[in-house]
Amino acid sequence: MTTDDRDFRLSRDVLPRRIQATLTLDLDARSFAGEAELTLSVERPVRTLVLHAVELDLGRTEVHVAGRVIRATPRVHPVSETVVLELDDPLPAGEARLVVAWTGRFTEGLRGLYLAGSVAATQFEAADARRVFPCFDEPAFKCTWALTVKVPPGLVALSNGRILAEELDGPYRKVRFAETEVLPSYLVALVVGPLVSTSEEMAVGVPVRTWCLEEKRALLGFGQQAALAVLPRLQDYFGLPYAFGKLDQVGIPDFEAGAMENAGLITYREVALLLDPATAPLSIQKRVAEVVTHELAHQWFGNWVTMVWWDDLWLNEAFATWMAYKIVDQWRPQWRVWLDFDAGKATALHLDALRSTHPIRGTVANAAEATESFDAITYEKGGAVLRMIEGFLAEEVFREGIRDYMRTHARANAVADDLWGALARASRAPVVELANAWIRQSGYPVVSVALEGTRVRLSQERFFSEPGLSGPETWPVPLVLAWGDDRGRHTRTFLLGGRSSEVVLEASGPVRWLDANAGSTGFYRAAYSAELLAGLGRSLRELLPAERIGLVADQWALVRAGRARVADFLDLVLAFGDEADHAVLDELVGRLGYVEARLVDGEDLERFRRLVERLFLPRLQQMGWDPVAGETDQDRLRRGALLRAVAGVARAKLVLAEIAPRVDRVLNGQRTALDPNLLDTAVGVSARDGDDELFDRLRAAFPREPDPAVKRRYLLALTAFERPELAKRAEAMLLDSAVPLQDFASFVHGLLANRVAREATWALLRDRWSTVTEKTAGAPMLLRRVVEAFGNLRERRHLDEARAFLAAHPVPEAQQAVAQTLERLAQDVALRERLAPEVSVWLRGR
Ligand SMILES: [Zn+2]
Repeated sequence: MTTDDRDFRLSRDVLPRRIQATLTLDLDARSFAGEAELTLSVERPVRTLVLHAVELDLGRTEVHVAGRVIRATPRVHPVSETVVLELDDPLPAGEARLVVAWTGRFTEGLRGLYLAGSVAATQFEAADARRVFPCFDEPAFKCTWALTVKVPPGLVALSNGRILAEELDGPYRKVRFAETEVLPSYLVALVVGPLVSTSEEMAVGVPVRTWCLEEKRALLGFGQQAALAVLPRLQDYFGLPYAFGKLDQVGIPDFEAGAMENAGLITYREVALLLDPATAPLSIQKRVAEVVTHELAHQWFGNWVTMVWWDDLWLNEAFATWMAYKIVDQWRPQWRVWLDFDAGKATALHLDALRSTHPIRGTVANAAEATESFDAITYEKGGAVLRMIEGFLAEEVFREGIRDYMRTHARANAVADDLWGALARASRAPVVELANAWIRQSGYPVVSVALEGTRVRLSQERFFSEPGLSGPETWPVPLVLAWGDDRGRHTRTFLLGGRSSEVVLEASGPVRWLDANAGSTGFYRAAYSAELLAGLGRSLRELLPAERIGLVADQWALVRAGRARVADFLDLVLAFGDEADHAVLDELVGRLGYVEARLVDGEDLERFRRLVERLFLPRLQQMGWDPVAGETDQDRLRRGALLRAVAGVARAKLVLAEIAPRVDRVLNGQRTALDPNLLDTAVGVSARDGDDELFDRLRAAFPREPDPAVKRRYLLALTAFERPELAKRAEAMLLDSAVPLQDFASFVHGLLANRVAREATWALLRDRWSTVTEKTAGAPMLLRRVVEAFGNLRERRHLDEARAFLAAHPVPEAQQAVAQTLERLAQDVALRERLAPEVSVWLRGR
């Protein structure tokens, strides 16, 4: 591997120990100048020094060693994003100091150092620190960072360390930050802007502040409170104090990911941090709590103990994903956030049933491939597998293993097998084999279940969503069986090792029902014999909400895979009749929404909508529109799910007529005209039927709106208008600069989901594809989401067009997303052709 290879990796001949750097920022000119002294440990004599750097102009460069100065000549290698410093004399082993000065420019996208409105912010993960500092930009090269910035005097400057000193220096304010703990370059951060904060509050001895732009000051409290609440819980779990001295959280006005766990300075997309508890839907509150906790969990797992290389990025993300739900569940048990975790797991199960899926842990040759692997397999499947392993080992044993791992690798780097080793020591169980089977092998099993008396027959095969496919793989499956008999509910765990096995249940009297994924904690699907399925249908009330959701999701997956009939599935949905749990309702409404969007047309569409209306309207009417005294959050969320069914899927006229004037009052500033949990649906369905006046009001309101959730609601509602001339106006916004870059892919998604806007948007995207790729050039994660939005297309013709288009316009930044999107679209198109006639017959039979 040479420096002209994109997979080049740094040698361990020279290790950075400390980087002392000063950056001078010119926000108007979008440029910066830097100077640094890097303390190096030279392990073996070298003639060259290799550092990462992208689009930096290096000036004076020299190495100081043992009282001598060695001149260095920089040569830039763009493919490997490195600069090779050729030294006039060889550098002996021992300590050396590299002195370097450079200039560079802000990037146009959302990485490196960039401008988000009036705020200059950095985003370095995976490998963009090299756009700001010449540095050792790989996670294994941890060192301390002593940073100073020079910025315009009126602006706040934040970095990983607290501020040690500030003074005026010519036209600048010079701010010197405390030297950090050892950090890999991807966790270094800087934010400069006209920011305001909460007052500083202490949690476990750590000063915590939350920051945003002045006009959003009223939205700071909740994110601050969440951080104060979860920090002690995390510290307790890890058995280690928070290491980074202080914690600042900042809402950045344009941000590619959800948030970034920079040590001591966490940056967020505004909608993932800032909210008004009086008007925010509960879903937004839960999301903020979950994201804050996820980023704080990384302060230990990732920041204190860091992966050696990006191939273990999944472990970092899987762990933080799982941990966030665990801790938020301790903080707010009434939120039942594990059900939200299951919703994320459902996305991963869907993705992982494709041929084009990938193992949780794959080979990652370079940082670009690392960026591509931030997907539902990495986060949600990874998190679900950790949860399954925790369930198998027991909670305390698992925690002991984690604590051992954190102590053993403190301040250093580790690989996944170090974690499995620690868990194996704590548990004396074969964790390494179990974990590796799940993380190195793509896909997951479907477990077939039949019952004879009290004897359960189990067998497994790999599950694919494409009909007729199966695979030879097997997994060690930690099953949890639940069943009901004369004495009530029982559970039993069982490791299904081979292809098939049997278990005898201890039952009093007949087994009335059997669930093969109790609590829905396993990452597999269950396929029941006809008798067992009928038993479950009769015993829905005895299943936990997560199990009812799992049952519906698994049956739907079996329909997709051609292993179950859609008519039976629809009958099962009807069997849920008066389901009261909002999360289960959400699952049912989601499936009904899919049928409405893809499987019915013409008269059938109308028939289907009326059926959904008959099922859910009386229950919405019974609840009424406005919360009554003594209502719980669960009640409010149930009303929200019912409204999605009746207004979103069924388009019931009676309800739409009630919504329009209420949305009007909301837009006039009377935010209590609708319960917050109804607002997203209400504004969206109003837009579908809306006229010019509503379009103009939303178009004018979204740029001015300080609350990020409201802003996003209004922006995305603009994609829902079904009057052709208004759909056209929304399409036109796609290519001007009205839509913030961070929301661009969601906007495309909304337009392609809109029946009226779909064709024109699809044509526009293909015509102006170079504009789309230019727009997203500095934010490849967003380009991937644009490709994924093609999945909203519906007809075989669309599929052929998408295949031809993506073959002619390859997207190297999103190869996996291209393959997955086309495969899934092919399945959706085939499903429509196969099931629409069956759904039609079923509907006519009702
Ligand atoms: Zn993360």
